[in-house]
Amino acid sequence: MDLEHRQQQVGRELLRHEVRTGLIRQLTGLTDHGIRGLYRSEAGEVPVRHRGKSPVQVTFLWKNEPLREDAAVFVCLWRRESEVLRLEPAEQGLAGRLRVAEGFCDTYGLFRQFCPQSPLTLERAYSVVRALKNQQGIRAEPCERCGALWLVDALAVKGEHCGHCKSAERQALEGESARTRGRKARPRHLDGSPQQQSLFGAGAEGESPRL
Ligand SMILES: [Zn+2]
Repeated sequence: MDLEHRQQQVGRELLRHEVRTGLIRQLTGLTDHGIRGLYRSEAGEVPVRHRGKSPVQVTFLWKNEPLREDAAVFVCLWRRESEVLRLEPAEQGLAGRLRVAEGFCDTYGLFRQFCPQSPLTLERAYSVVRALKNQQGIRAEPCERCGALWLVDALAVKGEHCGHCKSAERQALEGESARTRGRKARPRHLDGSPQQQSLFGAGAEGESPRL
């Protein structure tokens, strides 16, 4: 497939995910004129065309624990894709840029299969991997308890347990207090993030994403 065709294909995919024009331009090398043309050709398929800047900050993660868990799953998937990209022969210029954009879209598609209801948009997923790469307010580290990859505020103290372990610890505490009140305790689940386990088995260490 020639480069122009690949540009348009990725551009269409990004428009379907309601990605803003600026980010589409950055990922595909399409001009504003080209993006407008694509948008018109996709009439009916793409509900809204978003302008303005894509999110750069990832503070939305610290206010929403389920979203943060989803983002951790996405980062796991993206790290695997980044390894594949690294193993492929290096492509320069637009071809290289498009290969990364295609890999990113594929990874997001895979992520939606694992988390179909997730509020993590493609743009937000992108802002998370960018922030990790640029070390902007976020770290990815293994949960000390279960080893699953966890995303933490760079200003936070090290050693925070992942969302799944925190929830299991809360359940265990509730069970403990229920037992002291003579009621039957709720079951404990301290085996780590089920989504990440289903993806790769235990743990999710890897190098930084390449975006
Ligand atoms: Zn954990």
